[in-house]
Amino acid sequence: MRLLMAEDDALLGSAVHKALSRVGFAVDWVQSGRHFESSLATHHYDFIILDLGLPDERGENLLRQLRSRRQRTPVIVVTARGGVQDRVALLDLGADDYLVKPFDLDELAARVRSVLRRAPVDDGSDGALEHGALRLYPKRFCVTWNEEPVPLTHREFWVLEALVRNRNQVMSRSQLEEALYGWGEEVDSNAVEVYVHYLRRKLGPELIQTVRGVGYQLAPVREHA
Ligand code: CA
Repeated sequence: MRLLMAEDDALLGSAVHKALSRVGFAVDWVQSGRHFESSLATHHYDFIILDLGLPDERGENLLRQLRSRRQRTPVIVVTARGGVQDRVALLDLGADDYLVKPFDLDELAARVRSVLRRAPVDDGSDGALEHGALRLYPKRFCVTWNEEPVPLTHREFWVLEALVRNRNQVMSRSQLEEALYGWGEEVDSNAVEVYVHYLRRKLGPELIQTVRGVGYQLAPVREHA
């Protein structure tokens, strides 16, 4: 899952980044409202952590704009103001939850999990993605192949999810790397090859096709069903 965090406090931002990366999120960290908006415009996020006190824009305005575009991405707001009226106002604006600074990192991770559990389902099938005999459940990091569960690591899951979401196109190595890593994380030069290799071992050699010199693509359904 890819998460966008807007937080201008370097110490807190880096602690949250580390804590959430460790539990399996790809975290993109921005420190201003301007970068928050440009990231949202160019990337898909499953979750947002938003500090209200950013240097160039009030978090309330960013949240209001997000919801006025009918983007339902779950948002946890981080605020220094913990009064009842502040908290009520945030929930009314469309925040899914809030944390008052200072907060515990374990509590943040637990709140993220809890908000994700109650996040609205995008379609009638638990948000599941299908491709032939393959079924992915992005909210649960869960995959079945011919209705048998296949245990995948988080990074294997992300590569497969990116391929399924873009099943009608060839995904370049750098597009897949983007699914694997948050910004600023070090990227192993052969990481994508390695995860594709593991996925083929678990799901058979046919499902993911190599397009020489370009990248990878899922085999059309009829060829592996
Ligand atoms: Ca701040």
